[in-house]
Amino acid sequence: MAENEHYLDQSATTKPSESALRAMNAAAWGNPSSVHRIGAEAAAQLKAARAAVGATLGMPRITRDRLIFTSCGTESNNIALLGAAAAKKRDPERPGTVILSDGEHPSLENPARQLEERQGYRVFRVPTPRGVPDLDALKEALGRAKEDGFPVIFAGFMLVNNETGAVYDVRSTASLVRRAFPDAVIHCDAVQGYLKLKKNRFSPLALGVDTMTLSAHKIHAVRGAGALYLSENVIRRKNIVPVMPGGGQEGGFRSGTENLPAIASFAAAAEEGFSDLDSRCEKTASLRAVLDRGIARLSETYPGLGLNTPAGESLPNIASVRLPGIRSETMLNFLSGKGIYVSAGSACSAASKKKSAALLAFGLRDDEADSVIRVSMDHTNTEADIAAFLSGLEEGLNGLQRKK
Ligand code: PLP
Repeated sequence: MAENEHYLDQSATTKPSESALRAMNAAAWGNPSSVHRIGAEAAAQLKAARAAVGATLGMPRITRDRLIFTSCGTESNNIALLGAAAAKKRDPERPGTVILSDGEHPSLENPARQLEERQGYRVFRVPTPRGVPDLDALKEALGRAKEDGFPVIFAGFMLVNNETGAVYDVRSTASLVRRAFPDAVIHCDAVQGYLKLKKNRFSPLALGVDTMTLSAHKIHAVRGAGALYLSENVIRRKNIVPVMPGGGQEGGFRSGTENLPAIASFAAAAEEGFSDLDSRCEKTASLRAVLDRGIARLSETYPGLGLNTPAGESLPNIASVRLPGIRSETMLNFLSGKGIYVSAGSACSAASKKKSAALLAFGLRDDEADSVIRVSMDHTNTEADIAAFLSGLEEGLNGLQRKK
């Protein structure tokens, strides 16, 4: 990236770190399943990578049936949900209930919709007004599932919403579901919270979840690797089964020769991020304070400009900025022309041009959701990036055509 460019789209993807690239290049090329020396070298690296990622979750001795490497966060979410649905023989009349927050990423929401539309599952989406899961609505859904004999087989709540930065209270939602349906798989998509929140905040044990999704390219590793954590309980009770049969790699849950270069890069970035976590959090929080002050200052001149601030806890890395009457896409393109890179809602919703479901779930009206940009930063950003963004934003607010 050139010096006069400013990347503020860290929640879409991140630039691989030097150590992540070194680890990728140093990865053994052998097949970890081969029994000869070349394969054994790759198997040893795979084992070390698993231990490194496991250590960041508080489990350095984790085995390959408990932390499986996948290709990305999307794949991990699909394996968890579809694997839970396929685990037991279900009553075709009442196969079960899936509970999700209404702000989940499409990689969980869309497979859930498939189960709903094609296999008769009930899907209950817990409202998250201003980024706070409605626990009363969750309790009601649990009660209804019991009454109607539609047992909850899976409940998924993300740790941090990718568009608003809202931190969901996963501990509380998990414990409510666990008490009502001890056999349900309780899942957490931790893609945006992993190595962004403080250490024990993304540990599956501390959160009380059975499965957890991670994605390497959000933490300064190369693309092509993700992970799915599975609790001992889920494995023992066979509450998830593999949905992609094949050679049986990764404890049978994710067949296919492991992408060791990406996995090694993931492990290196995870180790680096974990050891540096406190200072990364501090740096990001201080950049966020600069951004917030700038937005507050500009909003005096441009009424209607503001932040979609979650009512509960939020992650400083993600700022959802409301624009006064200017389309997200218009501002995005204007800023991009100046070498300032942000996104509209999330990168995926920007590409599909659909209204962001997460912003509507947050409580924005259709027209409001159309005028939001997401600024996402991390420790690799500088105050110069924030200053460039604020000045580009001001210029855009001055000069861009308001929508009718
Ligand atoms: N879950 C969340 C919350 C995300 O933000 C993303 C990506 O933006 C994903 C899942 C999907 O991850 P991947 O891009 O690795 O498939």
